Amino acid sequence: MVLGSGGSWPSRDRNPPAVALKLDGDILLFDCAEGTQRQFMLSSLSFMQVRYVLISHLHADHFLGLPGLVETMALNGRKEPLHVFGPEGSAARLRTLFSVGYFSPAFDIDFRDLEPGEDVSIDGLKLSCARAIHQVPALSYAVEEPGRPGRFDLQKAKALGIPEGPLFNRLQSGSPVIAGGKTVTPDMVLGPPRKGRKVVYTGDTSPSAQILDLARDCDLLIHDSTADASLTQKANQYGHSSNVQAAQAARDAGALRLLLVHLSPRFGPEEGPRILEEAQKVFPQTVLAADLMELEVLHRDGATKP
Ligand SMILES: [Zn+2]
Ligand SMILES: [Zn+2]
Repeated sequence: MVLGSGGSWPSRDRNPPAVALKLDGDILLFDCAEGTQRQFMLSSLSFMQVRYVLISHLHADHFLGLPGLVETMALNGRKEPLHVFGPEGSAARLRTLFSVGYFSPAFDIDFRDLEPGEDVSIDGLKLSCARAIHQVPALSYAVEEPGRPGRFDLQKAKALGIPEGPLFNRLQSGSPVIAGGKTVTPDMVLGPPRKGRKVVYTGDTSPSAQILDLARDCDLLIHDSTADASLTQKANQYGHSSNVQAAQAARDAGALRLLLVHLSPRFGPEEGPRILEEAQKVFPQTVLAADLMELEVLHRDGATKP
């Protein structure tokens, strides 16, 4: 769910960056611009379910919404801890921010700095990060599901004389079974193991080889697209990317789909189709983000469920 698709400051059409990733029961939030809790209220998601906030960097448009979100959670009776990750120096700075007002949430906020290249396990998912190229310490994040067993081959299972029912489930979950006096192992009825889904959020960055590595074979690449092609040089100078550079990154990383975010407020809604088209010429599976847009993270093999 895109809560804020713009960059730099709020415009009539776009709130600044915040993208919610719905996990099993919990929500992981990439960046938290001002007004994010209100964007949640306009969406189909509940801000109370946010358990992880991944701040890409401490430019105002990426974190100013955090105090407001936390206070709104507190006033709504939240008790569960909140985990906030960010680049070097962010934990100390955010703690200072929370010491300014009279905040007293009845839940713990666990601020944690991550090093580029560090992996963390959250909710059974793998969170990794890479250094982004920006004017201040900044991280790009990848969130990846664990791999799944291969597809169950019904024909093969029947040919091996396995009756439909609990034995199928045992094989699917990786255990051997005995049917007709013979041992059948999972590899005899399952296809090759399938990768879990992978979502990458670049935050603000100019093009970077490290981000390409982080985004390798991802299913959804959410990329900085501050400028259009004509303003590429200026965008790169300020640590941003153009729509076309985002598309090149998606193509070069072998991404399944690209979502363009962080559009500069200089572009009005009438320029959306052109910005999208420029990127699609390089990477056809490109989507231009809009506030409150919902996107399912598809599996490479076409399945919609794990
Ligand atoms: Zn920004
Ligand atoms: Zn920035």
